[in-house]
Amino acid sequence: MTSMKSAACLVGIGISLIASIAHAQGKLNVITTTEDLASIAREVGGDRVTVESISRGYQDPHFVEAKPSFILKLQKADVLVTVGRELEIGWLPPLIQQSRNAKVQVGGSGYLDASGQARILDIPQGQITRAMGDVHPQGNPHYWLDPENGKAVAKEIAEKLSQLRPNDRAFFEQRLNDFVTRLSDAEKRWAAMMAPYKGTKVVTYHRSWPNFMERFGLNVIGYVEPKPGIPPSPAHTLELMTEMKRQNIRIIAVEPYFDLKTPNAVARDTGAQVLVLAPSVGGVKEASNYLALFDYDVNLLVGAFKQIGTK
Ligand SMILES: [Zn+2]
Repeated sequence: MTSMKSAACLVGIGISLIASIAHAQGKLNVITTTEDLASIAREVGGDRVTVESISRGYQDPHFVEAKPSFILKLQKADVLVTVGRELEIGWLPPLIQQSRNAKVQVGGSGYLDASGQARILDIPQGQITRAMGDVHPQGNPHYWLDPENGKAVAKEIAEKLSQLRPNDRAFFEQRLNDFVTRLSDAEKRWAAMMAPYKGTKVVTYHRSWPNFMERFGLNVIGYVEPKPGIPPSPAHTLELMTEMKRQNIRIIAVEPYFDLKTPNAVARDTGAQVLVLAPSVGGVKEASNYLALFDYDVNLLVGAFKQIGTK
């Protein structure tokens, strides 16, 4: 009797061991805060991960409505990838806390701030005051809009996935290299398309584009927002229109989540064109992944530059 019991017990242990090994080798459940990070995580993780983004690319990533379903997603996550630089500071910390998942807490084994190796612009000098608007002390968080930073993010993700699944390191590294190669090829194409328009001056709604504009040699001379996160004011709009006419600015780039009323009014007054650029994967349906995002924005800008026919 006793030996049968212990045999049954051993079988039981065996089954639970097999189950836990199978679990250990199952797909990593990756949650990202944005669709850009999700796209890059899919590139690197392939079929060894499942990836889901909390926010949609057509939403303002500074202000995401914290739904209870996000807490459930974080409860089951092995990895949480964030943009960092305080982009998500207004909505992510309570979600992480309420998930009670040790892995995804800041500093946990599955927590990743993807900005570590990226080129970060607009790091403020001196003291930051409320009067400056929504200025990020750790620099401009919209850094994913430079494809070179997309590579930096991919490297961070590959390293994190490899730490959690050491046996899959070669797999992740091979996928990382493949992604970097395809991105480099595309960058040559985008650079060639944009080269004739180097130095063209544009206006944008929010300060989402410093990395993008730097990469492609465009010059942002003003913003529809008077200060980051502050809605347009009549005085600022008037000043902007005067400056746009003085410098013959013909493009106003707007993120899809802003009201077009002021940009359209400015365009009517100055003869400029409003372009709704995609600041993220999923911002428009054509921007279905990280490479398609740049394809969409570069094509839209080049099309407008050609139409305007000016520098
Ligand atoms: Zn911003």
